[in-house]
Amino acid sequence: MADIKLKGVYKRYDNKEVVKNLNLEISEGEFAVLVGPSGCGKSTTLRMIAGLEHPSDGEIYIGGNLVNDVPAAKRDIAMVFQNYAIYPTMSVRGNIEFGLKNRKVPKGEREELIRDVCEIVGLSDYLERKPGTLSGGQRQRVALARAMVKKPSVFLMDEPLSNLDAKLRTQMRSELIELHKRLNTTFIYVTHDQVEAMSMGSKIIVMNQGIKMQDAGPMEVYDKPANVFSAQFIGTPPMNMVEADVFRKLCQDIPVDCHKVGFRSEKVRMLREEEERSCPCVDIPCSVITRELLGAEAIFTLDSRLGHLQVKSLSDFLPEVGEPLVIRIGLEHLFFFDQTGNRMDNVLG
Ligand code: ADP
Repeated sequence: MADIKLKGVYKRYDNKEVVKNLNLEISEGEFAVLVGPSGCGKSTTLRMIAGLEHPSDGEIYIGGNLVNDVPAAKRDIAMVFQNYAIYPTMSVRGNIEFGLKNRKVPKGEREELIRDVCEIVGLSDYLERKPGTLSGGQRQRVALARAMVKKPSVFLMDEPLSNLDAKLRTQMRSELIELHKRLNTTFIYVTHDQVEAMSMGSKIIVMNQGIKMQDAGPMEVYDKPANVFSAQFIGTPPMNMVEADVFRKLCQDIPVDCHKVGFRSEKVRMLREEEERSCPCVDIPCSVITRELLGAEAIFTLDSRLGHLQVKSLSDFLPEVGEPLVIRIGLEHLFFFDQTGNRMDNVLG
């Protein structure tokens, strides 16, 4: 186990800054997820921690030691990639054993390690099989097992599940959470998928254009997004965001210096007609443009004086396309953002 620290880390390619002044602290045993849109610098950050890229500026510490000049092989980390290169001509055992042989681990010890690790990832019955005869999930487990036999202090994973179909991805997600609990080792995981980040991470690092936008536990990012970017990146559908001037025409109760008002699609109530108010709220007349039925819930796109809004509701009330309705938002569910995009805290007292 080891903690990871990044201090003022930059990465430049030619004149382009792809990671900008990144400060990060990941505690021992944490499941940290770097999440953000494609090209925001997640992989570059992971590769700098791995020692596969050198930072242009700044310091990287693993377990309290400055590792800027320590080669990848000496960093006590293991990495699992999206395109895990497993050797097709070698058996599962051969694939897992390969690195151990290279490191001259004695045969007895090798066999014990392979047995233990394969039991954990559920590969015990497949040791003599060739990768071509395995499912995508099993092949991913081979890649995991190969990383695990190194017994690293830190696991680095770069979109390891993105080649799997949706169902298998969900299953592997749970397995990785279990694996993390069992190994009790620091995990750093890269994904562009906010659902993956929310469901797996004990800490989420939201990035955009090389900059850390927020760094907190998953529920804190959801409940207290630091800025407009975090608010709209985490959560499906993204948070509704309305210009404050437009919002003010319907509701005066917003701070004077606020620039944008946001509210989550699932915190809105849809009403067929206005009801008496039991708490401070704002009512917005709307009409349904589209509805997407997902079984237990439905997502509606509505037209309103605030522009197009999205609302997610349980499937107990399913207005038709074209139907007029009123949506009600409790004032406690409103988020306010200033000119720079940062969230304003506790502004309604
Ligand atoms: P992410 O993992 O978030 O998708 P990356 O870290 O892979 O993003 O890339 C961040 C930016 O750095 C992208 O614009 C990418 O094109 C650029 N980049 C990555 N590697 C190199 C490289 N070796 N040379 C030049 N530009 C690179």
